[in-house]
Amino acid sequence: MTLRLATEVVTLETRHPFVIARGGGSSHRVVDVRLIDGDGVEGWGEAAPSAYYGETPESVLAALATLVPHLPADPFRLEAAEADFRQQAPRSAAARGALSAALHDLVGKRLGRPLWQVWGLDPARAPRSSFTIGLGTASELREKVREAGAYPILKVKLGTERDEEILETIREVSDKPLRVDANGGWTRERALAMLPVLRSYGVEFLEQPVAPDDLDGLALLRRQDVLPIVVDESCLVAADIPRIAKAGAADGINIKLAKCGSLREALAMIATARAHGLLVMAGCMIESSLGITAAAHLAPLLDAADLDGAALTMNDPFVGATITAGEIRLPDSPGLGVRRR
Ligand code: MG
Repeated sequence: MTLRLATEVVTLETRHPFVIARGGGSSHRVVDVRLIDGDGVEGWGEAAPSAYYGETPESVLAALATLVPHLPADPFRLEAAEADFRQQAPRSAAARGALSAALHDLVGKRLGRPLWQVWGLDPARAPRSSFTIGLGTASELREKVREAGAYPILKVKLGTERDEEILETIREVSDKPLRVDANGGWTRERALAMLPVLRSYGVEFLEQPVAPDDLDGLALLRRQDVLPIVVDESCLVAADIPRIAKAGAADGINIKLAKCGSLREALAMIATARAHGLLVMAGCMIESSLGITAAAHLAPLLDAADLDGAALTMNDPFVGATITAGEIRLPDSPGLGVRRR
């Protein structure tokens, strides 16, 4: 039985320009894939390429084309298929992540079981998702916080010259728990100075304060013992974790399918992080509910989640896992459990 691949580039529009320390915008292109088996059963997945990691929709399409001859005859052979994909397209994590999600969707559909159940998980154990407040003017920030009214936890993007002002503006209109992500935008000195400020604003943890390769800087910040440090851009795959742990660079990791390129790799990251005593969170890019739902099936294994990518969009073509009011609800239907809106 051979699998057929169909692809589609979809432009997702966010309600507000989604801006972080290294830039951003309102239009985000993703690549949706369908793997169709000989019985007409379809597995779906989504690639959310990030220029930061060297991927674009065009490079994803090119990588997918090179992977077509390597699609498995038997979709249940996930381990071998993903190892093959990694070998053929090592730099195309987003593209491989889409195929990984599609194969897992297909497996779940053929078994007639939702993916979380295939994995032996209890969906009620999912943590609540935060909702991200991207960079903006004071009035934009106030509006975004108002729109996030139902969400119990806010993740605030920082890494600018006016970070104190951003926190003050948000605190004027909300007393919710805050998490902060600087996306590597601070120097060590700036990060050291920001630690007590973040603490005074009641921030729960700090994600990627300094550049991804500055593990010594991360360890220095962590030794201040002011806030837990979570790494995102420093940690792409499971093999990164022992090095991070050895350097004492983090209290936790942030997993994304677009970085690790495979749901099996995401599971390996969770196990590796746990073995090193690290907290585990999962995050996302701007993605539709198709991309978000693939990651959301990991949610029962997480300490924290930031799976708001689809909630930030205005034209989500899919319905799948939802994070209404921060509560992650996983679908009961087979596979990923995603359908067209
Ligand atoms: Mg991050």
